[in-house]
Amino acid sequence: MQIYINGEWRDSSSKDVLNKYNPANGQVIDTFPAATKTDVDDAVDAAEDSFEGWYNLGTSERAKILFKAAHLIAQNREELENLLMLEVGKIKREASDEVDGVLDQINYYAEFERKLTGQIVEGTNSKRKIFQYKVPYGVVVAITPWNFPAAMVARKLAPALLTGNTIVLKPSSDTPLTAAWIVKKFIEAGVPKGVLNLITGKGSEIGDYIVQHKKVSLVTMTGSTSTGQKIMQNASNNMAKLILELGGKAPFIVWKDADIRRTLKCITWAKYLNVGQSCIAAERLYIHEDIYDEFMKKFLEVTKRIKIGNPETADLGPLINKSALKNIQSVVENAKESGYKILTGGNVPNLEEPYRNGYFFEPTVIEDVNQDSPIFQEEIFGPVIGTEKISTTDELYRKANDSKYGLASYLFTEDPELMLEASEKIRFGELYINMPGPEASQGYHTGFRMTGQAGEGSIFGINEYLKVKNVYIDYSRGDLKINTVRDSLFDNL
Ligand code: NAD
Repeated sequence: MQIYINGEWRDSSSKDVLNKYNPANGQVIDTFPAATKTDVDDAVDAAEDSFEGWYNLGTSERAKILFKAAHLIAQNREELENLLMLEVGKIKREASDEVDGVLDQINYYAEFERKLTGQIVEGTNSKRKIFQYKVPYGVVVAITPWNFPAAMVARKLAPALLTGNTIVLKPSSDTPLTAAWIVKKFIEAGVPKGVLNLITGKGSEIGDYIVQHKKVSLVTMTGSTSTGQKIMQNASNNMAKLILELGGKAPFIVWKDADIRRTLKCITWAKYLNVGQSCIAAERLYIHEDIYDEFMKKFLEVTKRIKIGNPETADLGPLINKSALKNIQSVVENAKESGYKILTGGNVPNLEEPYRNGYFFEPTVIEDVNQDSPIFQEEIFGPVIGTEKISTTDELYRKANDSKYGLASYLFTEDPELMLEASEKIRFGELYINMPGPEASQGYHTGFRMTGQAGEGSIFGINEYLKVKNVYIDYSRGDLKINTVRDSLFDNL
């Protein structure tokens, strides 16, 4: 594939390329350009030069282009689904679900075509007004992860473009092809030259450079907390506004009165969606002691039934790459060394060719995890979950909130009082009560603590892409009294 700068598909200025592997069998499927600082400069210049024209086009015209992009994606959705299966190893059902998410996001944002507002505020007297305009930031850098490579790109492109910003998109090096596919659809839909640019390459190289670029005004990034911290440091050089959607460590709480079948379906979704590689994945399973045995027996039974392998037919695909697999293996090895009991899984499955060389790992359940253990404190990002019994609501809140991350949390109970109390006491950006995720376009996806800053979705998310500009106007005529300026200075003038 190639990068897209100022309306042209091209190679990197150095001609260097990187390999993209299929995680289901370890084979190279394509190469992509390792962009250079020169490419970054070109992309940012193009975005800056095209900004005024794009802004002046108006929200309704921009929305038309978004609707058209969604239409083109819908018409070719099978292609995108296949690409998600090839590039990420997504199972078919999840690939299709993600495409639904992409369409929903783009259409949702486009529907704000005639709904954006500023306001007029009264000044200190009736002839004074303050016009508060909502204006785009200018050049936006969008940095995306690989786990939902289509949905994350759509969730950044659509609001940024709708609001009149121009963009340089830098997707994860694990998913450049999906990003390029989506960019093509936006271009086909009529996004003008320079407004949307795509660069690929190592985040640690071009990422550092682009984030502190003087012409960049906003950086919207979804990824790990450590990368988010690096971005914050770099953005201190240009004071770019930041939208940072970072790591998670969701507690999944099963209270004594939970509907067990319903809860089992939801934990299966929350833990094994995308092989546990999701920011809202259940990572800590707290079960009330009264139903612990019954719930665990059934959860283990479901977990053992999960089919691993061919993304076309399996319930669980591969991890994204070799290093993700190594990481999960070491989580489990460390758990074993610390004396934890692995109730099921814990190994690389023995699969047939061609999946033998893929990055698969068995769904794994670790029992009686200590709250301070890395299993309960660090993001695992794989098909591994630790469990623990709880008995009181105090313990529930204390343990659930004991995390440096604060994105999603889950509670299963039939008790309305507990639902309401938990809504106040659980300090996470999202609490799902008796239901699975994911977040809705009309919700505001945001996290507490080290999960980051700002958020995406809903009018709150759209407003993240708009700056408030204040114009003060006094339309009275004639002389003016200014308290701190002596009037006699102007005598006879
Ligand atoms: P990552 O932090 O490794 O990479 C994210 C992106 O940042 C990639 O495009 C990468 O190339 C880029 N990058 C890396 N170093 C950079 C730098 N110095 N400057 C600028 N960009 C740089 O994350 P990942 O492995 O792709 O994704 C997994 C992480 O994303 C997990 O922690 C997960 O929880 C998080 N995530 C969060 C959300 C959310 O909404 N909060 C959603 C999905 C994923």
